[in-house]
Amino acid sequence: MKNSSFFVKSYGCQMNLYDSKKIVSILQSRGFKQNTRPEDADLVIFNTCNIRDKAAHKLYSDIGRVNKTKRDKTIAVVGCVAQAENSEMFNKNSSIDIVLGPQSYHLLPQMLLDLEKNPKQINTEFIVNEKFDYLSAQNKPQGISSFVTIQEGCDKFCSFCVVPFTRGPEYSRPIKSILQEVESLTINGAKEIVLLGQNVNAYEDLSSSKKSNIADLIQTISENEKVERIRYTTSHPINMSDELIKLHSTNEKLMPFLHLPVQSGSSRILKKMNRKYDKDFYRRIINKLKFVNPNIEISSDFIVGYPGETDRDFYETIDLIEELKFTQSFSFIFSPRPGTKSATQNDKTPLSIKKERLLILQQKLKDIQFNFNKEFIGKKLKVLVENQSSSNPAYYFGRSPFMQAVYIKASNIKAGELVNANISSCNHKNLYASC
Ligand code: SF4
Repeated sequence: MKNSSFFVKSYGCQMNLYDSKKIVSILQSRGFKQNTRPEDADLVIFNTCNIRDKAAHKLYSDIGRVNKTKRDKTIAVVGCVAQAENSEMFNKNSSIDIVLGPQSYHLLPQMLLDLEKNPKQINTEFIVNEKFDYLSAQNKPQGISSFVTIQEGCDKFCSFCVVPFTRGPEYSRPIKSILQEVESLTINGAKEIVLLGQNVNAYEDLSSSKKSNIADLIQTISENEKVERIRYTTSHPINMSDELIKLHSTNEKLMPFLHLPVQSGSSRILKKMNRKYDKDFYRRIINKLKFVNPNIEISSDFIVGYPGETDRDFYETIDLIEELKFTQSFSFIFSPRPGTKSATQNDKTPLSIKKERLLILQQKLKDIQFNFNKEFIGKKLKVLVENQSSSNPAYYFGRSPFMQAVYIKASNIKAGELVNANISSCNHKNLYASC
């Protein structure tokens, strides 16, 4: 094979980070060596995200930068931008050699070989079951906290989102293959399993007569003695079943933290977004979760300045944030994506107003997060230690049950341990502790 070293750059969500790790593992198993700098690699892979306009633009400027360093590289664009832009990518930038959709990157080694016959290679088919089959044979150690994809794709068609077009319809991975991957990860030291999916709580295993949902899957994984903690992301409010909610009170390994995107606190805007729930529905889900487990903390996603969002709609979102006290969140200004319904909607709100709204919303979220972190000063928190700092070995990094990043000063702990950390200080992002 002509390429002997590679570099991967990942854009966007956790699913992409997970996919990039799998790409690394596929290529290493074929004898490729990973490089940390694109200029030193023969093959440069961009694993792309198409959720926001910025990420897609960044891709083309990154390709330009790589081209300046050395011309005879192979450039592969994989992921959601590849799926959305398809063969058009070759016209936009002639240095691209491979275009590969997110459901078929397991075909990358073969496409590299085929480049000798045909200098432009493309595959954007939805062959997700084949990808899962292939990947279950590629299990590699990831770390103390390890991701496992259990579901891909989306049938919800929110009016602002490209995922149903780039990742295809909802598909759940067979439970047997998931449990094999979990077993292999725990043998290699994983203590926390994070189940991943675009609509992770829509998971439904149809591969056997006993149809298993995500609650069944979490319960089964928790019976593995080597697993200490379980998380799942990203969930959709309409798929929060009573069974899954109840599991947050009965399963101690299921962490009391849930990422549940609401997007807006205005029912009028939620309808325009085709989110399939209103504010009261969302509030009821959170109240049910807090009823079964009063310790549970929620994080969310917010889109500010959706077409037609008025001041009143925006302040309904602020009120919901104040009411439900989200302790970690992601928030962005609406970015129209080609091919989605909202890209064609009339949007009269000036960008300056949207920016102002985003600042107000982010300050509110930051204050809530800071106040939440402050509550732990002087208290003990159970932290799963993930690694020792390479720049300052006196410090270890871990996560609390509520996903807070905790930096622990200690000399007698190691990665993989669950420790009782004494929290001494914090800022809005991190907790600082000793042990
Ligand atoms: S639920 Fe909506 S936002 Fe989430 S992936 Fe599906 S279409 Fe996109």
